[in-house]
Amino acid sequence: MILTINCGSSSLKYQLYTPDLGEVAAKGIISRIGEAGTSIDHRVGGRKIRQDLPGADHAGALEAVIANLLHPEWGAIGDIAEIEAIGHRAVHGGDTFVESVLVTDEVIAQLEECTPLAPLHNPVNLVGIREARRLLPDVPHVVVFDTSFHQGMPPHAHVFALPYHYYAEHKIRRYGFHGTSCRYVSARAAEILGRPIEDLRMVICHLGNGVTIDAVSGGRSVDTSIGFGTFSGVMMGTRSGDFDPGLIFYMHKKLNMSLSDIEAICYKESGLLGVSGVSNDMREVVEQAVAGNARCALAIDMFVYMVRKFVGSYAAAMDGIDALVFTAGIGENSAYIRSRISHGLEFLGVELDDVANDQVNGAAAIISPAHARAATMVVPTDEEKMIALDTLRLSGGLIGRDPAEVYLAAAVAE
Ligand code: ADP
Repeated sequence: MILTINCGSSSLKYQLYTPDLGEVAAKGIISRIGEAGTSIDHRVGGRKIRQDLPGADHAGALEAVIANLLHPEWGAIGDIAEIEAIGHRAVHGGDTFVESVLVTDEVIAQLEECTPLAPLHNPVNLVGIREARRLLPDVPHVVVFDTSFHQGMPPHAHVFALPYHYYAEHKIRRYGFHGTSCRYVSARAAEILGRPIEDLRMVICHLGNGVTIDAVSGGRSVDTSIGFGTFSGVMMGTRSGDFDPGLIFYMHKKLNMSLSDIEAICYKESGLLGVSGVSNDMREVVEQAVAGNARCALAIDMFVYMVRKFVGSYAAAMDGIDALVFTAGIGENSAYIRSRISHGLEFLGVELDDVANDQVNGAAAIISPAHARAATMVVPTDEEKMIALDTLRLSGGLIGRDPAEVYLAAAVAE
């Protein structure tokens, strides 16, 4: 079996896959790590088990995961040796990691070097990897990076127009995030369309609490909306998205705000929340807009407009598009937002089948008429599945097989 681990600053998510990745045998989340009220929610079969884990740190959380997986009553394995490989999510692989890798001491050292690029995330990712290696030293561990899918972007898309030495010496460049999601979704979209991914130009709209718009040409990310930090691109739940950076100097010099105050505003008080004044949750913003709240309506207008601008610019970057693909919380669940984004993009060959759009029910679906020049689609993301796939491939399960076959194996398993 393959275990995936996604270690965040105050949470740890895990999924245990059967060897063909056909089933999730058990999964769960440990919440509020390092805070009061730490607990584990473990799911196996139809059962849900909740336990308090007072005082547990990330090491304690991982121990609880293994204990629950082995539990005689609600476990999923009889022996720890049944876990044959572990896949870890890491947020930032810098410009070192262009793809997922098997964990070695050298990889850990290189990952540590990437920490300044993601000071909040990489350290906890590293804790998860170290602790898992301590508990299961004899199995292969694989690390999958949120940034690596975007590493192949051409220089004209990833270099910022600052003095060049900031790029050359300080690694200041566009990195992008949500790469694991966009890689999975673009591969699944190609499968669903029944066309080779090499022939397709897609715009992936990952619209969740975080938002990434990604231009994927021939299966490669060629441009992406998030840049260096994680607040650029389209406005998000609480993050601003793009604005004129000149404002930062103005807020600092004229409004006497400290840089850390401005940073907190850009990351935590902006986006849907900042504009609507109501919520960072798109559902609430839509509800209030329908009820007549003008600022909620404005927040939605801005969100939709920003997504559409990126779709248009990426169509220009790729000389057109063959597929517009929606994923993540908003992209998968809001027919209204999909409709607002898609209508008006007919000049790109995008056409929406409104009935199909309204009928999307959690599964992947094509929501454009068959004659449309570009397919519009909903493809539920599954980052864990992508991590498990890479883990299977790199730990020996699918060695020597090319990625297209690996995706096919996943589709068959589904
Ligand atoms: P995260 O980035 O935290 O993984 P998700 O992908 O789960 O986020 O997406 C969370 C977002 O999805 C929230 O803004 C939530 O309001 C939105 N969302 C979920 N369901 C709906 C829906 N039916 N309509 C509109 N937005 C939705």
